Amino acid sequence: MQTTSTTLVVIGGGPGGYIAAIRAAQLKIPTILIEGDQLGGTCLNIGCIPSKAMIHAAEEFEKAKHYAHGSSIGIQVSDPSINIEQTVSWKDGIVKRLTSGVGALLKKNGAQVIKGWAQIIDGKTVAVMQDGKELQRITCQHLLIASGSTPVQLPFMPFGSSNGKVISSTEALSPTEVPKKLVVVGGGYIGLELGIAYRKLGAEVAVVESLDRILPAYDEELTKVVKTALKQLGIEVHLGCTVQGMNADHSAVRIKNAAGEESELACDKVLVAVGRRPRTEGFGLESLMLDMNGRAIKIDDQCRTSMRDVWAIGDVAGEPMLAHRAMAQGEMVAEIIAGKRRHFIPASIPAVCFTDPELVVVGKSPQEAQAAGIEAISAMFPFAANGRSMTLESSEGFVRVVARKDNHLILGWQAVGKGVSELSAAFGLSLEMGATLEDVAGTIHSHPTLGEAVQEAALRALGHALHI
Ligand code: FAD
Ligand code: NAD
Repeated sequence: MQTTSTTLVVIGGGPGGYIAAIRAAQLKIPTILIEGDQLGGTCLNIGCIPSKAMIHAAEEFEKAKHYAHGSSIGIQVSDPSINIEQTVSWKDGIVKRLTSGVGALLKKNGAQVIKGWAQIIDGKTVAVMQDGKELQRITCQHLLIASGSTPVQLPFMPFGSSNGKVISSTEALSPTEVPKKLVVVGGGYIGLELGIAYRKLGAEVAVVESLDRILPAYDEELTKVVKTALKQLGIEVHLGCTVQGMNADHSAVRIKNAAGEESELACDKVLVAVGRRPRTEGFGLESLMLDMNGRAIKIDDQCRTSMRDVWAIGDVAGEPMLAHRAMAQGEMVAEIIAGKRRHFIPASIPAVCFTDPELVVVGKSPQEAQAAGIEAISAMFPFAANGRSMTLESSEGFVRVVARKDNHLILGWQAVGKGVSELSAAFGLSLEMGATLEDVAGTIHSHPTLGEAVQEAALRALGHALHI
């Protein structure tokens, strides 16, 4: 059996692992990346990218249907239809282009990729397995664990059960047909992003959420706008309800509300999206006896684990499980191994939810500023007063800014509305650069754009908004 020696071994080729390997190779660190499935990980293959592709397709179809019903804009369309198989193969084409691009970037930069499952032998030795056989053994100075996460299953209705009716986001992203009735368990990111998409594709959708509100990670003033949109779309939302399992003939999901009353929701498919958990089992990780933070690997602000020269990044290191966090950590670890002084202390990690309307939060909300004991001011500017929003037929939502009262340093931004995901870059930049309200208010924002609402929110916080 072949034994290879290198400086850095990366386990997992998702956004965390592949970025770490590219950057390490750029810095001339001999690097081997081991990926058991497909390069690109959850994000490119079964997560961020395919979900946004399906969301886009659903939006376009919905638009066509809207025009078919006669619209004030003057466009007429007759009887639109969708070929879902073609939609899925279009989505698969995007995934293929991106994942092969990742392979090409790794190669171009000189990182070696080995296809196989990594089995940790000790903190400096990894075996590469294929079909249960050891292909080769690699010794390294640094071991970076970027094994990602897996979807949480409900033990009483696991994925694939009820004749394949119970599905995870992975199956929901490659449908062979649009179900007539879809029940979504979990009113979080995946449940709402995909629940809305399926509704637009023509399914009747019911969402069951155990808490008394949707998207618990976002503040209620923002989610209120999404809640109204769900109602307008005709999506049923059952809050404060627990799922009991499928009924006897697998035709419906049994749910119980807070008062203990049981009812059934008829379904052709049930999408279970109740969170994801770090992937820490099945590859010898436990043998390292690393300190854990719940189910996640415990890391410090340089992504070091409790074992010297063993590092962990991305979803396996816990919340927030977001691709851009994994990438930022991966880039940083490569630079630290190359001898640079780096710490993971971002001013913020933006969070975007691709519902319709979209949500963005960056930094502190007014409540979080208050909880941190900071005297803050906040102001919001509604898209109803923004010209570009009107031309896009979408004037619901707003931008809100939060800043320190004493020196006007911006602490956070929140927005809800069509297309606001693209504002997250400006929000993140203003926080990272320590901008004040005056900085944003004094920046010329091009007209007509949604970005003008950002400037106007800052102006409003200073007491002199111009367009409201
Ligand atoms: P992963 O992307 O999970 O990659 C881990 C890789 O490691 C996998 O390829 C796996 O095969 C490999 N691996 C694991 N164990 C081994 C082993 N022993 N040997 C070899 N290889 C191994 N995040 C966002 O920021 N924005 C979004 O819009 C967004 N949308 C999402 C939509 C969906 C439906 C889902 C499911 C997730 C979404 N996410 C989104 C989350 C995002 O996908 C993850 O945060 C991100 O992929 C984490 O990156 P990672 O590198 O830590 O792990
Ligand atoms: P989530 O944590 O966003 O939402 C899960 C929801 O399910 C929560 O509202 C929770 O209260 C609810 N829930 C939990 N158990 C339940 C039960 N038994 N019955 C009913 N409801 C229950 O998780 P997710 O939607 O599965 O997404 C997983 C992760 O993937 C996210 O946390 C996020 O990190 C990532 N993601 C990000 C994006 C994005 O950035 N746009 C999109 C999709 C996924």
